[in-house]
Amino acid sequence: MRRKLVVGNWKMNKTVAEADDWCWNYVEHQLIGSETEVGVAPPYLGLVAVAESLYGTDVMVGGQDAFWLESGAYTGLVSPTMLKDAGGSFCILGHSERRGRFGKLEVPEETLPYFSETDATLNLKLAAVLKAGLTPILCCGETQAERDSGMTDSVIERQLRGALHGFTSKELQPLVLAYEPVWAIGTGKVCDSGEASRISGFIRSHLKVAVSTKVSRSTRILYGGSVKSSNAAELFAMPDIDGGLVGGASLDPAEFAKIVGAA
Ligand code: PEP
Repeated sequence: MRRKLVVGNWKMNKTVAEADDWCWNYVEHQLIGSETEVGVAPPYLGLVAVAESLYGTDVMVGGQDAFWLESGAYTGLVSPTMLKDAGGSFCILGHSERRGRFGKLEVPEETLPYFSETDATLNLKLAAVLKAGLTPILCCGETQAERDSGMTDSVIERQLRGALHGFTSKELQPLVLAYEPVWAIGTGKVCDSGEASRISGFIRSHLKVAVSTKVSRSTRILYGGSVKSSNAAELFAMPDIDGGLVGGASLDPAEFAKIVGAA
């Protein structure tokens, strides 16, 4: 039985004071005795404060990304070990905004390489995050143009194949995946629950062939893309969807608590 997981990705939002305020508010609104695992990924600068404010609660704190090397002359980057040291227990990897495609913008990937994330860099990051003992939450998903041209499944398969290449079944035990259609992120356009579940099932079948039956059964697959309290229950009730990765709606603690409650 896979335990439901709901993670809030704050992206580049909230000062330390605002983050602290969120924590107090969330704790007031959270459902007591819920079986659902919960996490939040604040910007790095707020991570220590959030970890302190949430100390003693069940809410995990994690990073939105991490580099694959331990230390060195890499201006602006943070290693998985630093993330763990600051109180992080998970790390989001491969969010579409880091793959060089900013949500709604439908432009060729090579013209907008803001962060230059590729399946190959994700493969390195996944290894580093696992080595540091963090839970990786690896994102995958297609753009509108890719969906319109019937490439959804092949894009996801390529992303998974590239990022998961070379790992053993045992190494991938902690893996969490997030299906995040790019066209649904921050747009208010939520993926139909049946289609989101079909893709999660497709991802599970891929894991079975490419990794192992064990990993295919145990890996939690989250849905992300305009999740709100009004649509969360329907999405999370689908058999292959094990929770959500929530962007915009996670910024409001009361709304996020309702989404967690829906799981
Ligand atoms: C996300 O960025 O991971 C996300 C799902 O965003 P939103 O919920 O705002 O669509």
